[in-house]
Amino acid sequence: MHGSVLDGSGSETFKADLLVRDGKIVFIGEVDPNRIKAEKVIEAEGKVVTPGFIDVHAHGNPLSEVSFRSFLADGTTTILLGQDGYHPSIAASQFSILPWMEAAGESSLELNVALFAGHGSLRRQAQIPDESAPNESQLDMMVSHLRGALENGCYGMSTGLEYVPGIYAQKPELEALAEVLGEYDAVMSSHMRNEDDDAIEASIGELLDLGKFCRIHASHLKVVYGKGTARGKEILALLDSAGQSGMKVSADVYPYIASYTGIGILFPKWAKTQTQFEKALKTRKKELETYLHNRVIKRNGPEATLFGSGKYAGKTLAEAAQQEGISYVELLLSIGPQGASGAYFIMDRELQDTFITHPELMIASDGSPTMLHPRGHGTMARIIERYVVKEKSLTLASAVYKMSGLPASTMGIKDRGLLQKGMVADILVFRPESIKEKATFSDPYQLSEGFDQVIVNGRLAWDNQELTDAKAGRLLRRK
Ligand SMILES: [Zn+2]
Repeated sequence: MHGSVLDGSGSETFKADLLVRDGKIVFIGEVDPNRIKAEKVIEAEGKVVTPGFIDVHAHGNPLSEVSFRSFLADGTTTILLGQDGYHPSIAASQFSILPWMEAAGESSLELNVALFAGHGSLRRQAQIPDESAPNESQLDMMVSHLRGALENGCYGMSTGLEYVPGIYAQKPELEALAEVLGEYDAVMSSHMRNEDDDAIEASIGELLDLGKFCRIHASHLKVVYGKGTARGKEILALLDSAGQSGMKVSADVYPYIASYTGIGILFPKWAKTQTQFEKALKTRKKELETYLHNRVIKRNGPEATLFGSGKYAGKTLAEAAQQEGISYVELLLSIGPQGASGAYFIMDRELQDTFITHPELMIASDGSPTMLHPRGHGTMARIIERYVVKEKSLTLASAVYKMSGLPASTMGIKDRGLLQKGMVADILVFRPESIKEKATFSDPYQLSEGFDQVIVNGRLAWDNQELTDAKAGRLLRRK
């Protein structure tokens, strides 16, 4: 009642009451409380009422014991999983997404979950050896597994072209899959091949080539060690001009200047897996050392890598090496490409801000409930606290659109992302000035504050910093 409604379309606020029944929004306008018998009334005077946020790039396993409350506390009611080329599966040896979907469909989830099929997982499902291209029958198999996933309600396919096995995928394979996605009007969401400053144009070019066939989406857009607003604008111009030529192109970004991934990101293509690494230690050790040295220097030095897992969690690469009394290259060799994950302070604030404040670029966390990076807990709050309230580089209407209406329409989530009659009732009630991102790099598990009520499928899921027992989320299937 009495809230200022921001409907998620980017339009400005208007005063209205919202009626929700059976999980749907049934009325927006002025309600006479004497004529309506409500089971529950939420007073929203002085607050805004917005759609629940849709995070198109998230990680984690909602079928495990780990709670996703950090997402609800941050205003997110729907997450898209199956990212960077990997989709979830029931067992490690089993690559089909379908049994997982069946299990998720029968489970009570804390929030809504939508899925991409993962390109790397499809590759493993088709039993394609990592370092080879698929033969004809293997490619047919991948295509048919992708079709199966899309028929069962996946929203598209993700790639992880910087990771094993996506790193081995070449054009014919990606084109064949893009064609299938095109048939379904589904999205190819790409962790691109290389996000470095001197390679980003080529990586975007590879993605844009696939835009002939299907909708394309650049995940967590960044320019590693690139600098300045002008550089950011160059990248945006590339995407904009592709969009103007009729291609359906989109991107998301997270509001931090550190990335987070496996330590393998520092290793060369020929030493990414444990087997490759062990072979390289025997046959190309000097070359590997030189590579690691140059790579770390290029990525702002050993002080700019902060371990998030493994023996050295909480320490920078420089600190860990000092503790062991060895060089950082020796330390990396002792850990290996699979031995840890970490945060990498390799982005430029000004450059990334051109993406974060672009009106048509969506915000996504790339976070998980357990990740040792604050983006798993604070992404959406950070956007409102820093960019809307403090710096005023985004209007609240624009920020909400970038976190609800825009991701919904891009990914084909047709009944969410907007506050309109007939839409599903995923709703937030909050005071923008009270939103606080609490998570930090040294304390990344702090819940965001200020999202007073978070409603999922018409039920109160998060109420004044408390998780309710609603478990109202569900597996979303693309219609
Ligand atoms: Zn990624």
